[in-house]
Amino acid sequence: MTLMVDEQIKKRGYEPITQLFVPNSDLVETASYLANLDINKRMNRIYQMDIEDAIFDTRAFFKAFYRIHNVPYLIRKKFNRYSLRMVNPFDLPIYYENHPDEICYGALITDFTDRWGITFGGIVLNKIVTEFTSCTYAHEITHSLLDSTRGAIREYYNEEVISLVNELILASILESDERILRAEDSRRIFEIDTLCKELQDYHRGAMDKTRDDGLIDSKYLISDVRAYNLFAEYYYGSIAVQRHIVDKINKVMNGEGNVEELLGEFMDIPATNNEGVKLIFSPKTTKYFKRG
Ligand SMILES: [Zn+2]
Repeated sequence: MTLMVDEQIKKRGYEPITQLFVPNSDLVETASYLANLDINKRMNRIYQMDIEDAIFDTRAFFKAFYRIHNVPYLIRKKFNRYSLRMVNPFDLPIYYENHPDEICYGALITDFTDRWGITFGGIVLNKIVTEFTSCTYAHEITHSLLDSTRGAIREYYNEEVISLVNELILASILESDERILRAEDSRRIFEIDTLCKELQDYHRGAMDKTRDDGLIDSKYLISDVRAYNLFAEYYYGSIAVQRHIVDKINKVMNGEGNVEELLGEFMDIPATNNEGVKLIFSPKTTKYFKRG
């Protein structure tokens, strides 16, 4: 059964949300401007590849950058019986689904159990395997590490930040000419622009959307912008800064500190359940999306 977002927030121990997010005009205008630059409208060619190679790249990335801990795997047996085993997240079963229109489709199958709390049933990836797949897989592995670490994320709206940053770091090292990274950027800036417009419409009451839709859209928009603000620090940072960011992500994923503290080092992050969240691209992020 799929839980309503407010119930999920409670089960995950996040702070409750009273206000839906309304993007400010500064963000809306910048997103629209950046999404319409030629450099971001150009679609790089992305090739298909073998799943074994994609998985190899994700494993190599985590091996080189991060510690990983075991995560709760819920095994379904016959007659509605379950058992739980702690496994390496790379040992969670992978299921392939056909999503021809969503090349980066990925999901972490999550169950909220009374007995064991949050558990995972596996990871879903697109049947069409491309050069993006290793990044999507890294994104879902990151979710499993964060979601099994209570307190790693305090606010629902920041749920996607670290998964997105890991996706971007991996994309940035896969190809020296940034072909895959730029394809990621085009996709995301388009997503940010669209979410800005939809949330504005939602706020005006012009759209037939539920509170859940508004919460999910708010989460992706806030997480996308904050992830890029953090990634731009990494991208333009010295080796020392890059190491520092990776070290902090490592700690958050393994139960020391939380995402909000890490973000707070680099940007203003007022609590999102208050009115008037200031969400803008940092000057470095704007520069990043304009790079030639
Ligand atoms: Zn995600």
